[in-house]
Amino acid sequence: MSGPILEVKGLVAGYGKKRAVHGVDLTLNKGETLLVLGHNGAGKTTLMQSVFGLNPPMAGQVFYEGRDVTARNPALNVADGLAFVPQGHAIFSSLTVRDNLELGAFVETDRARIQKHLDDVFSMFPILKEREKQIAGTFSGGQKQMLAIGMALMHGPRVLILDEPSIGLAPNLVDRVMKSVEEIKRRFDASIIIVEQNVKYSLPVADRVVVLKTGGVIYEGAPEPLMDHQKLIELF
Ligand code: ATP
Repeated sequence: MSGPILEVKGLVAGYGKKRAVHGVDLTLNKGETLLVLGHNGAGKTTLMQSVFGLNPPMAGQVFYEGRDVTARNPALNVADGLAFVPQGHAIFSSLTVRDNLELGAFVETDRARIQKHLDDVFSMFPILKEREKQIAGTFSGGQKQMLAIGMALMHGPRVLILDEPSIGLAPNLVDRVMKSVEEIKRRFDASIIIVEQNVKYSLPVADRVVVLKTGGVIYEGAPEPLMDHQKLIELF
C-alpha cells in the first residue's frame, strides 16, 4: 500500500439548506479497502454522492490522484477511472446482461481493454457469462448487484465506491459480493470504498474503517477493535 489516491477534506454536503455531512475528512490509500460504516441516515450516501459529483459539496474539497476534482461532473469522473456503484442495483432492466456490461464500458475506446475487462468480469461472476443473453430485469437481487459491480468494472476503474452492496441480499450472496472485493483489487489494481451497515460481512474485508454518525466521523482506524461487540455497541 502507498500514499493517498483519494482525499476528502472538510466536506460539507446536504440538501437545500439541510446539512447531512458536517466537515468530513477521509483518505483512501492506493490499494486499500476502506469501509465506511454507519447506521441509517448517518450521511454515508450523501458523502459518497458528494465525492462523486452527484451532489456537489457545500464546502470542502476532493482530491483524486492529487488533482482537485471537487464537484466535477460524474461522467468525467468515470472517464478518469473513478467509479460509483449506487445503492439498489443501478442497471438497465430492459437490456440483456451483455448489453449492460457493454454500456458500462461506454468511456472505453480500446476494444482489447474492453475484452480484457469483460473476461475479468465473467471469471469473477460466472453467472453473468452463463446468462449474458438474459434480460437483466429478470435477475435476482444478488445477480443484479453482481451486474452493477461488473458494469462499473468495465471501464477499469482505479477507485471503486460501492454504496451498500449488501442491501437486500441473502447472507450467502453478501459473502460472495464481499469476497469479490479482494479479487477486484487483484485483477483491476483498484482501491475500494465500501459503504455499509452490515458490519459482520464487511469488517473482515476492510483494511481500515471510518464510522460516521450524524454526518461526522466518530471512529477512524483498524477494523480489529470493531470486532469487539462491546466497542461496536458504544459506537453505534
Ligand atoms: P442509509 O444507510 O439509510 O442510506 P446514509 O448513512 O446513507 O443512510 P444518507 O442517505 O446520506 O444516510 O442521509 C443523511 C441524511 O440526509 C438523513 O437525515 C436523510 O434523511 C437526509 N437525506 C437523504 N437524502 C435526502 C434527500 N434527497 N433530500 C433531503 N434529505 C435527504
